[in-house]
Amino acid sequence: MSRFWSETTRNITPYVPGEQPRDKIRIKLNTNENPYPPSPGVLACLRELANEDLRLYPDPDSRELCETVADYYGLSAEQVFPGNGSDEVLAFLFQTFFGPDDLIAFPDVTYSFYPVYARLYGIPYREIPVREDFSIDFSGYPGEAKGILFANPNAPTGLYIPPAEIEALLRARPDTLIVVDEAYVDFGNQSVVPLVKKYDNLLVVQTLSKSRALAGMRIGLAMGHPELIEGLNRIKNSFNSYTMDRLAQAAAICAFRDDAYYREINGRIIRERERFKETLRGMGIPCTDSKSNFVFASLPGLKGPDALRLLREQGILVRNFAGNPRIADWLRITIGTKEDMDRVVEAVKKIMER
Ligand code: PMP
Repeated sequence: MSRFWSETTRNITPYVPGEQPRDKIRIKLNTNENPYPPSPGVLACLRELANEDLRLYPDPDSRELCETVADYYGLSAEQVFPGNGSDEVLAFLFQTFFGPDDLIAFPDVTYSFYPVYARLYGIPYREIPVREDFSIDFSGYPGEAKGILFANPNAPTGLYIPPAEIEALLRARPDTLIVVDEAYVDFGNQSVVPLVKKYDNLLVVQTLSKSRALAGMRIGLAMGHPELIEGLNRIKNSFNSYTMDRLAQAAAICAFRDDAYYREINGRIIRERERFKETLRGMGIPCTDSKSNFVFASLPGLKGPDALRLLREQGILVRNFAGNPRIADWLRITIGTKEDMDRVVEAVKKIMER
Protein backbone atom coordinates (compact mmCIF):
# COMPACT_ATOMS: atom_id res chain seq x y z
CA MET A 1 0.00 0.00 0.00
CA SER A 2 1.36 3.41 -0.93
CA ARG A 3 0.63 6.51 1.14
CA PHE A 4 -0.69 8.08 -2.06
CA TRP A 5 -3.61 5.65 -2.40
CA SER A 6 -7.02 7.32 -2.03
CA GLU A 7 -9.46 6.12 0.61
CA THR A 8 -11.47 4.28 -2.06
CA THR A 9 -8.36 2.48 -3.33
CA ARG A 10 -7.46 1.49 0.23
CA ASN A 11 -10.92 0.15 1.04
CA ILE A 12 -11.97 -1.56 -2.18
CA THR A 13 -11.95 -5.34 -2.44
CA PRO A 14 -11.20 -5.84 -6.11
CA TYR A 15 -13.08 -8.37 -8.24
CA VAL A 16 -10.96 -11.51 -8.65
CA PRO A 17 -11.17 -12.72 -12.26
CA GLY A 18 -11.22 -16.41 -13.15
CA GLU A 19 -7.71 -17.78 -13.31
CA GLN A 20 -5.84 -17.81 -16.62
CA PRO A 21 -3.62 -20.81 -15.83
CA ARG A 22 0.05 -21.06 -16.72
CA ASP A 23 0.52 -24.63 -15.49
CA LYS A 24 -0.54 -27.97 -16.92
CA ILE A 25 -4.31 -27.55 -16.91
CA ARG A 26 -5.58 -29.59 -19.82
CA ILE A 27 -9.21 -28.54 -19.79
CA LYS A 28 -10.02 -24.91 -19.01
CA LEU A 29 -13.68 -24.52 -18.08
CA ASN A 30 -13.48 -21.67 -15.57
CA THR A 31 -14.22 -18.42 -17.43
CA ASN A 32 -17.05 -19.29 -19.84
CA GLU A 33 -15.00 -18.84 -22.99
CA ASN A 34 -16.30 -20.43 -26.19
CA PRO A 35 -14.48 -23.70 -26.99
CA TYR A 36 -14.73 -22.94 -30.72
CA PRO A 37 -12.72 -20.31 -32.64
CA PRO A 38 -14.10 -17.01 -33.95
CA SER A 39 -15.66 -17.32 -37.42
CA PRO A 40 -13.29 -17.64 -40.40
CA GLY A 41 -14.67 -14.30 -41.62
CA VAL A 42 -13.62 -12.55 -38.40
CA LEU A 43 -10.11 -14.03 -38.58
CA ALA A 44 -9.72 -13.08 -42.26
CA CYS A 45 -10.86 -9.54 -41.55
CA LEU A 46 -8.37 -9.18 -38.67
CA ARG A 47 -5.51 -10.44 -40.83
CA GLU A 48 -6.40 -7.98 -43.55
CA LEU A 49 -6.66 -5.03 -41.18
CA ALA A 50 -3.39 -5.67 -39.34
CA ASN A 51 -1.68 -3.20 -41.66
CA GLU A 52 -0.12 0.26 -41.79
CA ASP A 53 -3.47 1.97 -41.19
CA LEU A 54 -3.05 1.10 -37.51
CA ARG A 55 -1.04 4.35 -37.26
CA LEU A 56 -4.40 6.14 -37.64
CA TYR A 57 -6.89 6.65 -34.81
CA PRO A 58 -10.10 4.61 -35.04
CA ASP A 59 -13.55 6.09 -35.63
CA PRO A 60 -14.35 7.50 -32.15
CA ASP A 61 -18.08 6.87 -32.68
CA SER A 62 -17.69 3.29 -34.01
CA ARG A 63 -20.40 4.33 -36.45
CA GLU A 64 -20.27 1.31 -38.76
CA LEU A 65 -20.35 -1.07 -35.80
CA CYS A 66 -23.34 0.75 -34.26
CA GLU A 67 -25.14 0.58 -37.62
CA THR A 68 -24.36 -3.13 -37.99
CA VAL A 69 -25.69 -3.95 -34.51
CA ALA A 70 -28.71 -1.68 -35.10
CA ASP A 71 -29.51 -3.53 -38.36
CA TYR A 72 -29.14 -6.88 -36.62
CA TYR A 73 -31.68 -5.97 -33.92
CA GLY A 74 -33.93 -3.60 -35.88
CA LEU A 75 -32.82 -0.51 -33.92
CA SER A 76 -31.23 2.81 -34.92
CA ALA A 77 -27.48 3.42 -34.50
CA GLU A 78 -28.33 6.00 -31.79
CA GLN A 79 -29.60 3.12 -29.64
CA VAL A 80 -26.25 1.32 -29.57
CA PHE A 81 -23.15 1.91 -27.43
CA PRO A 82 -20.01 -0.23 -27.84
CA GLY A 83 -17.20 -0.59 -25.30
CA ASN A 84 -14.08 -2.60 -24.47
CA GLY A 85 -15.86 -5.66 -23.16
CA SER A 86 -19.13 -5.48 -21.28
CA ASP A 87 -17.16 -4.93 -18.06
CA GLU A 88 -16.22 -1.50 -19.40
CA VAL A 89 -19.77 -0.86 -20.60
CA LEU A 90 -20.96 -1.69 -17.06
CA ALA A 91 -18.38 0.70 -15.58
CA PHE A 92 -19.64 3.49 -17.86
CA LEU A 93 -23.26 2.83 -16.96
CA PHE A 94 -22.58 2.95 -13.21
CA GLN A 95 -20.90 6.34 -13.71
CA THR A 96 -23.50 7.66 -16.13
CA PHE A 97 -26.69 6.89 -14.24
CA PHE A 98 -25.82 6.64 -10.54
CA GLY A 99 -24.33 8.88 -7.88
CA PRO A 100 -23.91 8.87 -4.10
CA ASP A 101 -27.65 9.50 -3.55
CA ASP A 102 -28.94 6.84 -5.93
CA LEU A 103 -29.73 3.33 -4.72
CA ILE A 104 -29.01 0.41 -7.02
CA ALA A 105 -30.36 -3.06 -6.30
CA PHE A 106 -29.29 -6.44 -7.59
CA PRO A 107 -29.88 -10.07 -6.62
CA ASP A 108 -27.57 -11.50 -3.96
CA VAL A 109 -26.55 -14.20 -6.34
CA THR A 110 -25.45 -12.58 -9.59
CA TYR A 111 -22.30 -11.38 -11.36
CA SER A 112 -19.98 -10.52 -8.47
CA PHE A 113 -18.51 -7.52 -10.28
CA TYR A 114 -21.65 -5.40 -9.67
CA PRO A 115 -21.00 -4.68 -5.96
CA VAL A 116 -17.34 -3.94 -6.74
CA TYR A 117 -18.38 -1.20 -9.19
CA ALA A 118 -20.95 0.20 -6.76
CA ARG A 119 -18.32 0.47 -4.01
CA LEU A 120 -15.70 1.85 -6.38
CA TYR A 121 -17.99 4.63 -7.57
CA GLY A 122 -19.48 5.33 -4.13
CA ILE A 123 -23.02 4.23 -5.12
CA PRO A 124 -25.26 2.83 -2.37
CA TYR A 125 -26.44 -0.67 -3.24
CA ARG A 126 -28.61 -3.40 -1.84
CA GLU A 127 -28.35 -7.11 -2.57
CA ILE A 128 -31.79 -8.73 -2.58
CA PRO A 129 -31.98 -12.44 -1.66
CA VAL A 130 -32.89 -14.85 -4.42
CA ARG A 131 -35.38 -17.62 -3.62
CA GLU A 132 -34.25 -20.96 -2.23
CA ASP A 133 -34.07 -22.33 -5.80
CA PHE A 134 -31.90 -19.28 -6.83
CA SER A 135 -34.69 -17.69 -8.90
CA ILE A 136 -35.05 -13.89 -8.76
CA ASP A 137 -38.09 -12.49 -6.92
CA PHE A 138 -38.66 -8.90 -8.11
CA SER A 139 -41.37 -8.26 -5.53
CA GLY A 140 -38.70 -7.72 -2.86
CA TYR A 141 -36.91 -4.86 -4.65
CA PRO A 142 -37.06 -1.52 -2.79
CA GLY A 143 -39.42 1.05 -4.32
CA GLU A 144 -36.82 3.79 -3.91
CA ALA A 145 -34.17 1.99 -6.00
CA LYS A 146 -33.21 4.15 -8.98
CA GLY A 147 -31.80 1.12 -10.75
CA ILE A 148 -32.17 -2.65 -10.81
CA LEU A 149 -29.41 -4.70 -12.39
CA PHE A 150 -29.27 -8.43 -13.04
CA ALA A 151 -27.82 -10.89 -15.51
CA ASN A 152 -30.22 -12.91 -17.69
CA PRO A 153 -29.51 -15.78 -17.84
CA ASN A 154 -28.13 -15.11 -14.39
CA ALA A 155 -24.54 -15.82 -13.43
CA PRO A 156 -23.43 -18.17 -12.03
CA THR A 157 -26.79 -19.96 -11.67
CA GLY A 158 -27.68 -19.90 -15.39
CA LEU A 159 -31.38 -19.35 -14.61
CA TYR A 160 -33.32 -17.48 -17.30
CA ILE A 161 -36.25 -15.08 -16.96
CA PRO A 162 -38.52 -14.89 -20.06
CA PRO A 163 -39.14 -11.44 -21.66
CA ALA A 164 -42.79 -11.24 -20.45
CA GLU A 165 -41.65 -11.13 -16.81
CA ILE A 166 -39.08 -8.43 -17.56
CA GLU A 167 -41.67 -6.44 -19.50
CA ALA A 168 -43.99 -6.60 -16.48
CA LEU A 169 -41.16 -5.16 -14.35
CA LEU A 170 -40.51 -2.37 -16.88
CA ARG A 171 -44.21 -1.45 -16.81
CA ALA A 172 -44.53 -1.67 -13.04
CA ARG A 173 -41.45 0.53 -12.44
CA PRO A 174 -41.34 3.20 -15.18
CA ASP A 175 -39.02 5.41 -13.09
CA THR A 176 -36.49 2.69 -12.35
CA LEU A 177 -33.67 2.03 -14.79
CA ILE A 178 -33.76 -1.71 -15.46
CA VAL A 179 -30.39 -3.00 -16.64
CA VAL A 180 -30.39 -6.51 -18.09
CA ASP A 181 -26.94 -8.02 -18.59
CA GLU A 182 -27.42 -10.50 -21.45
CA ALA A 183 -23.86 -11.86 -21.51
CA TYR A 184 -25.24 -15.39 -21.97
CA VAL A 185 -28.49 -14.75 -23.83
CA ASP A 186 -27.42 -16.33 -27.13
CA PHE A 187 -27.34 -19.85 -25.73
CA GLY A 188 -30.91 -20.62 -26.72
CA ASN A 189 -32.80 -17.71 -25.14
CA GLN A 190 -34.83 -14.73 -26.32
CA SER A 191 -33.25 -11.29 -25.90
CA VAL A 192 -35.16 -8.29 -24.51
CA VAL A 193 -33.37 -5.94 -26.93
CA PRO A 194 -36.58 -5.42 -29.00
CA LEU A 195 -38.17 -3.92 -25.86
CA VAL A 196 -35.77 -0.93 -25.91
CA LYS A 197 -37.98 0.52 -28.68
CA LYS A 198 -40.92 0.50 -26.29
CA TYR A 199 -39.42 1.36 -22.89
CA ASP A 200 -37.07 4.25 -22.07
CA ASN A 201 -36.16 2.65 -18.72
CA LEU A 202 -34.46 -0.42 -20.21
CA LEU A 203 -30.76 -0.80 -20.90
CA VAL A 204 -29.51 -4.12 -22.27
CA VAL A 205 -25.83 -5.06 -22.00
CA GLN A 206 -24.27 -7.75 -24.18
CA THR A 207 -20.81 -9.11 -24.89
CA LEU A 208 -19.04 -10.73 -27.82
CA SER A 209 -16.84 -12.68 -25.38
CA LYS A 210 -19.05 -15.73 -25.02
CA SER A 211 -21.38 -16.61 -27.90
CA ARG A 212 -19.16 -14.88 -30.49
CA ALA A 213 -15.90 -16.38 -29.23
CA LEU A 214 -14.09 -13.03 -28.95
CA ALA A 215 -13.17 -12.78 -25.25
CA GLY A 216 -9.61 -11.91 -26.26
CA MET A 217 -10.72 -8.82 -28.20
CA ARG A 218 -12.82 -7.17 -25.48
CA ILE A 219 -16.05 -6.08 -27.15
CA GLY A 220 -19.24 -5.24 -25.26
CA LEU A 221 -22.44 -3.39 -26.11
CA ALA A 222 -25.25 -1.49 -24.46
CA MET A 223 -28.59 -0.95 -26.19
CA GLY A 224 -31.30 1.41 -25.02
CA HIS A 225 -33.25 4.60 -25.60
CA PRO A 226 -31.16 7.22 -27.51
CA GLU A 227 -31.08 9.46 -24.42
CA LEU A 228 -29.59 6.66 -22.33
CA ILE A 229 -26.99 6.06 -25.04
CA GLU A 230 -26.25 9.80 -25.25
CA GLY A 231 -25.48 9.76 -21.51
CA LEU A 232 -23.08 6.85 -21.91
CA ASN A 233 -21.28 8.70 -24.73
CA ARG A 234 -20.89 11.82 -22.55
CA ILE A 235 -19.08 9.78 -19.90
CA LYS A 236 -17.09 7.74 -22.41
CA ASN A 237 -15.84 10.87 -24.18
CA SER A 238 -14.76 12.31 -20.85
CA PHE A 239 -12.40 9.35 -20.34
CA ASN A 240 -11.35 8.25 -23.81
CA SER A 241 -13.32 9.03 -26.93
CA TYR A 242 -11.40 6.31 -28.85
CA THR A 243 -12.68 3.48 -26.66
CA MET A 244 -12.96 0.91 -29.44
CA ASP A 245 -9.78 0.18 -31.39
CA ARG A 246 -9.77 -0.39 -35.17
CA LEU A 247 -9.42 -4.16 -34.99
CA ALA A 248 -12.12 -4.61 -32.35
CA GLN A 249 -14.59 -2.51 -34.34
CA ALA A 250 -13.91 -4.51 -37.50
CA ALA A 251 -14.01 -7.91 -35.75
CA ALA A 252 -17.33 -7.06 -34.12
CA ILE A 253 -18.85 -6.03 -37.46
CA CYS A 254 -17.71 -9.31 -39.09
CA ALA A 255 -19.00 -11.33 -36.11
CA PHE A 256 -22.52 -9.94 -36.56
CA ARG A 257 -22.36 -10.66 -40.30
CA ASP A 258 -21.28 -14.28 -39.71
CA ASP A 259 -24.39 -15.13 -37.75
CA ALA A 260 -24.89 -18.56 -39.36
CA TYR A 261 -21.47 -19.73 -38.14
CA TYR A 262 -22.20 -18.60 -34.59
CA ARG A 263 -25.63 -20.21 -34.54
CA GLU A 264 -23.99 -23.47 -35.52
CA ILE A 265 -21.26 -23.48 -32.83
CA ASN A 266 -23.62 -22.23 -30.14
CA GLY A 267 -26.14 -24.91 -31.12
CA ARG A 268 -23.42 -27.46 -30.36
CA ILE A 269 -22.79 -25.84 -26.96
CA ILE A 270 -26.52 -25.86 -26.14
CA ARG A 271 -26.84 -29.57 -27.03
CA GLU A 272 -23.75 -30.40 -24.98
CA ARG A 273 -25.10 -28.38 -22.02
CA GLU A 274 -28.36 -30.32 -22.02
CA ARG A 275 -26.53 -33.65 -22.31
CA PHE A 276 -24.11 -32.71 -19.49
CA LYS A 277 -26.94 -31.57 -17.16
CA GLU A 278 -28.78 -34.84 -17.78
CA THR A 279 -25.65 -36.89 -17.14
CA LEU A 280 -24.90 -35.12 -13.86
CA ARG A 281 -28.50 -35.47 -12.68
CA GLY A 282 -28.38 -39.15 -13.59
CA MET A 283 -25.41 -39.42 -11.22
CA GLY A 284 -27.41 -37.82 -8.40
CA ILE A 285 -25.64 -34.45 -8.69
CA PRO A 286 -27.93 -31.44 -8.25
CA CYS A 287 -27.61 -28.81 -10.94
CA THR A 288 -29.73 -25.81 -11.85
CA ASP A 289 -31.59 -25.59 -15.16
CA SER A 290 -28.88 -23.44 -16.70
CA LYS A 291 -29.70 -21.79 -20.02
CA SER A 292 -26.17 -20.47 -20.39
CA ASN A 293 -22.85 -21.85 -21.67
CA PHE A 294 -22.09 -23.25 -18.23
CA VAL A 295 -23.65 -25.64 -15.78
CA PHE A 296 -24.01 -24.86 -12.07
CA ALA A 297 -23.71 -28.01 -9.97
CA SER A 298 -22.93 -29.14 -6.44
CA LEU A 299 -21.09 -32.41 -5.80
CA PRO A 300 -22.85 -34.11 -2.84
CA GLY A 301 -20.82 -34.37 0.36
CA LEU A 302 -18.05 -32.06 -0.86
CA LYS A 303 -17.17 -28.50 0.04
CA GLY A 304 -16.91 -26.33 -3.09
CA PRO A 305 -13.17 -25.59 -2.73
CA ASP A 306 -12.46 -29.32 -2.21
CA ALA A 307 -14.44 -30.25 -5.33
CA LEU A 308 -12.51 -27.56 -7.22
CA ARG A 309 -9.19 -29.00 -6.01
CA LEU A 310 -10.11 -32.60 -6.81
CA LEU A 311 -10.99 -31.64 -10.37
CA ARG A 312 -7.87 -29.56 -10.69
CA GLU A 313 -5.76 -32.56 -9.65
CA GLN A 314 -7.19 -34.24 -12.75
CA GLY A 315 -6.23 -31.28 -14.96
CA ILE A 316 -9.69 -29.69 -15.09
CA LEU A 317 -10.17 -26.07 -14.09
CA VAL A 318 -13.68 -24.88 -13.12
CA ARG A 319 -14.96 -22.01 -10.97
CA ASN A 320 -16.17 -21.84 -7.36
CA PHE A 321 -17.40 -18.76 -5.49
CA ALA A 322 -16.42 -19.66 -1.93
CA GLY A 323 -16.76 -16.02 -0.85
CA ASN A 324 -20.57 -16.17 -1.13
CA PRO A 325 -21.93 -18.58 1.52
CA ARG A 326 -25.14 -19.22 -0.46
CA ILE A 327 -23.23 -20.79 -3.32
CA ALA A 328 -19.96 -21.78 -1.62
CA ASP A 329 -20.46 -25.49 -2.34
CA TRP A 330 -21.43 -25.06 -5.99
CA LEU A 331 -19.25 -25.24 -9.08
CA ARG A 332 -19.68 -23.33 -12.31
CA ILE A 333 -18.50 -25.52 -15.15
CA THR A 334 -18.18 -23.96 -18.60
CA ILE A 335 -19.44 -26.10 -21.46
CA GLY A 336 -16.53 -27.10 -23.70
CA THR A 337 -16.41 -29.58 -26.54
CA LYS A 338 -18.03 -33.02 -26.27
CA GLU A 339 -14.57 -34.50 -25.57
CA ASP A 340 -13.96 -31.95 -22.77
CA MET A 341 -17.30 -32.79 -21.14
CA ASP A 342 -16.71 -36.55 -21.41
CA ARG A 343 -13.44 -36.02 -19.51
CA VAL A 344 -15.24 -33.97 -16.86
CA VAL A 345 -17.84 -36.70 -16.40
CA GLU A 346 -15.06 -39.29 -15.96
CA ALA A 347 -13.29 -37.05 -13.43
CA VAL A 348 -16.50 -36.44 -11.48
CA LYS A 349 -17.23 -40.19 -11.43
CA LYS A 350 -13.79 -40.80 -9.93
CA ILE A 351 -14.39 -38.15 -7.27
CA MET A 352 -17.81 -39.56 -6.36
CA GLU A 353 -16.45 -43.11 -6.07
CA ARG A 354 -13.46 -42.23 -3.93
N1 PMP B 1 -21.52 -9.92 -17.42
C1 PMP B 1 -21.53 -11.17 -16.96
C2 PMP B 1 -22.77 -11.70 -16.34
C3 PMP B 1 -20.38 -11.98 -17.06
O1 PMP B 1 -20.38 -13.23 -16.58
C4 PMP B 1 -19.22 -11.45 -17.68
C5 PMP B 1 -17.99 -12.31 -17.85
N2 PMP B 1 -17.19 -12.42 -16.74
C6 PMP B 1 -19.25 -10.13 -18.12
C7 PMP B 1 -20.42 -9.40 -17.98
C8 PMP B 1 -18.05 -9.47 -18.70
O2 PMP B 1 -17.74 -9.91 -19.97
P1 PMP B 1 -16.76 -9.12 -20.94
O3 PMP B 1 -16.13 -8.00 -20.17
O4 PMP B 1 -15.79 -10.14 -21.40
O5 PMP B 1 -17.61 -8.60 -22.05
